[in-house]
Amino acid sequence: MRTVATFAEVRALGSGIVGFVPTMGYLHEGHLSLVAAARRECDTVTVSLFVNPLQFGPGEDLDSYPRDFGRDRLLVERAGADVLFAPSVEEMYPSAPLTTVTVAGVTAGMEGARRPGHFDGVATVVAKLFAGIEPDRSYFGRKDAQQLAMVRRMAADLSFPTRIVGEPIVREPDGLSLSSRNIYLDDAQRTAARSISRGLFAAAEAVTAGERSGRELERIVASSVRAEPGIELDYAVLADRDTAEPLGCLDRPAFLAVAAAAGATRLLDNVHIDRIEGEWVPDVGVRLDTRSILYKET
Ligand code: AMP
Repeated sequence: MRTVATFAEVRALGSGIVGFVPTMGYLHEGHLSLVAAARRECDTVTVSLFVNPLQFGPGEDLDSYPRDFGRDRLLVERAGADVLFAPSVEEMYPSAPLTTVTVAGVTAGMEGARRPGHFDGVATVVAKLFAGIEPDRSYFGRKDAQQLAMVRRMAADLSFPTRIVGEPIVREPDGLSLSSRNIYLDDAQRTAARSISRGLFAAAEAVTAGERSGRELERIVASSVRAEPGIELDYAVLADRDTAEPLGCLDRPAFLAVAAAAGATRLLDNVHIDRIEGEWVPDVGVRLDTRSILYKET
């Protein structure tokens, strides 16, 4: 595997079908599942590692965001990537960009409403990565469902010649969806955080049993999270998978999204719901057999 810091080097190393996995590092099995999918489907696999200042708001955790370059490089190499692109902030933003990307509509609610400027920062860096790397296929987690909808729309609107691939959520054995920020959680918060996936799994069962009401599915998740004193529900919303607009009723592909705070840590999770052969089928993702590598020495 080659580790490089400029777009020119990344492009020079790409041959055949180029698969691309953007990350902010501090990698876990969720990220590695994206690398594995790219490895299965592409000739060259490029992973980027860049903590993007543009997508952090004032008072957010840019400075304290977990970083461990040596560990990440080892994990990406073991996962079979060919190229690790780890640019400096100066390489990505030689000067503060005067051109930024805003995807309207899709970013209006949920995370977009809570974190002003966040999605503009994500859209701008992803557009730069697409333009600089020229990937054929780009892999994103469904964990960040609104982000995935936004990236799909941006790639279509701006004619980026890359296929956007969404991959299932990877979870701890107890159901908690993996996130680099999970390492901030203390034991009590970690226990309380289980109520999120527990609520989503209950809602998924309700869908399988025939429930179609957005309000009822949201209530199932909200009541699970509200039952835990150590965690504060922000929202539970059934949303259109493509537009991220709230849905009153499950009548098109959707995701049931939750955001909650455990202390200063913001936790996001969701269940995707698709229509397959006339049935509404929830996809809760995949569970690890053992605790995430987030907590292990590499
Ligand atoms: P991040 O490093 O948090 O910016 O995430 C990089 C990519 O990994 C994004 O496409 C995320 O959606 C994806 N990702 C993060 N956590 C998970 C997870 N638990 N399961 C699957 N994909 C994930």
